[in-house]
Amino acid sequence: MRQVLIAGNWKMNGSRSSVRELLDGVKAGAGDVKSAELAVCVPFPYLADVQDQLSSSAISWGAQNLSTEEKGAFTGETSAAMLLDFSCKYVLVGHSERRSLYGEDDALVAQKFAVARKAGLKPVLCVGESLEERESNVTEDVVARQLDAVIALEGVAALADGVIAYEPVWAIGTGKTASPEQAQAVHAFIRAKIAGADAAVADKVQILYGGSMNPGNATELLAMADIDGGLIGGASLKAGDFLAIGKAAG
Ligand code: PEP
Repeated sequence: MRQVLIAGNWKMNGSRSSVRELLDGVKAGAGDVKSAELAVCVPFPYLADVQDQLSSSAISWGAQNLSTEEKGAFTGETSAAMLLDFSCKYVLVGHSERRSLYGEDDALVAQKFAVARKAGLKPVLCVGESLEERESNVTEDVVARQLDAVIALEGVAALADGVIAYEPVWAIGTGKTASPEQAQAVHAFIRAKIAGADAAVADKVQILYGGSMNPGNATELLAMADIDGGLIGGASLKAGDFLAIGKAAG
């Protein structure tokens, strides 16, 4: 049985006071989330506060990006070791906003996955197609290419040290969700592709769905056989919604 993971991606939102309030709310209700691990991926400046607030809880935390470099003259960058200094468990790599707005290509994302994994972080590898790609029927090709970049660099077994998040770009922040059947089809494709190389890895790796998941659609999505949790953007900024998604698991 794969553990369900409900991970929040706060993106570039929040303030010290709103973070405190949000996590107070999540902590207060987390005991009612019986069948999922909760995690939050937060902006770098809040990591110390988040660590402080969550270290006595069962909620995990992490970051939204990292550098491929270890240290040195890389102004504005943040290393894996720095994230470990704040006891991060997770780090997102290859979120579609990093790919589209900051030019991160498959090779760079694969390097980030490798650096995070080798440091002992759990990289959450985000993959997914644009609307144009879906309409051109190349969803599977796109997702396969994004996965193959990591497999080519690190080997298929490395995927078991991370998490995969299937996030159709057209569903992120748009209020349009993939139907449970659409999402399941891509999740099943991902798992079958990995199984073609290593069945044990395919069985173990958690594949999250991301893209406008909310309390109203989470139950149906999380009921699908190959959906092992969610990467939640907008709805992770409201404690009640985030907890409701956690409770929808199982
Ligand atoms: C995301 O940013 O990973 C995401 C899924 O956002 P939203 O839930 O807001 O669509």
